[in-house]
Amino acid sequence: MRSAYNTFNLENSVEQKLDFPLFLEKGVEVFIKRDDLIHPIVSGNKWRKLKYNIIKAQTENKNHLVTFGGAYSNHLLATACAGAVLGLKTTGFVRGEEEVEDNHYLFLSRLYGMNIIRVTRADYKDKHTLYNQYFATDPSAYFVDEGGSGTEGEMGCSELVTELQSKYDCLLLAIGTGATIGGIANGLKLNSMSSKLIGIDVLKGIERPELTNSGIELFSDYHFGGYGKYSNELLEFIKYFVSNTGILIDQVYTAKMFFGLFDLIKKDYFGRGSQILAIHTGGNLGILSLVQ
Ligand SMILES: *Cc1c(COP(=O)(O)O)cnc(C)c1O
Repeated sequence: MRSAYNTFNLENSVEQKLDFPLFLEKGVEVFIKRDDLIHPIVSGNKWRKLKYNIIKAQTENKNHLVTFGGAYSNHLLATACAGAVLGLKTTGFVRGEEEVEDNHYLFLSRLYGMNIIRVTRADYKDKHTLYNQYFATDPSAYFVDEGGSGTEGEMGCSELVTELQSKYDCLLLAIGTGATIGGIANGLKLNSMSSKLIGIDVLKGIERPELTNSGIELFSDYHFGGYGKYSNELLEFIKYFVSNTGILIDQVYTAKMFFGLFDLIKKDYFGRGSQILAIHTGGNLGILSLVQ
């Protein structure tokens, strides 16, 4: 297997200061950690979550990553691309066979050489059964859970805190499964760092006791109707943010985080003098779903 480390360089994830009039007015300093710059396709938390899965596959001499996702999954595409870079075979089980046409995610995943298997929503529910049905007898196959979640995924995410260039009062990021923020919470604990951790939930109506019990502050009012849903207000915000920074954000994850951050600053949630780090978790290709 080829080495990952020339291509996926965590040092590309720099921290930059953001300047908006609102921040000046409220006396807060906002920085962004550019995990979106780790790689144009294998971006953000998806490389962090894949890293130790791939290392584990490698130590077990397995060269075929088998994973799972929806038709708009950043994880599926990241796995396809990482496999192409590293010389690994990839298979992706895609939830829901009713969408007949490939979208841009599936087009790119196939281009990177991923074997796509579409399954019904019902079959998709039991991933281990699916895996065993197709790959029980393939000694090279390695199971990577949906989104790269699990022990290895969280380990990769926990490393993020060791890269930080400054002591921030708060770290803030978008939450899907919660694996990334869970990993970061572990990283803070392991390194005795006291930054407050804030999650903006992009899903609607999910209780997450495992996160709130570990001291994470959760905001669940910025989902805009649920996963993948958005409003004109969110689209206007994306335009405002992108045209004033040159930094892409997407309507599924990072725009909801930044919208939430701006709103919390407006409502004086953060004290004057606060230093806040927003983590850009990548996923910029999601914005292309808005193209008619
Ligand atoms: C997958 C993803 C998330 C959510 O990460 P979880 O570990 O599932 O909480 C956030 N942002 C982007 C851009 C993603 O692709």
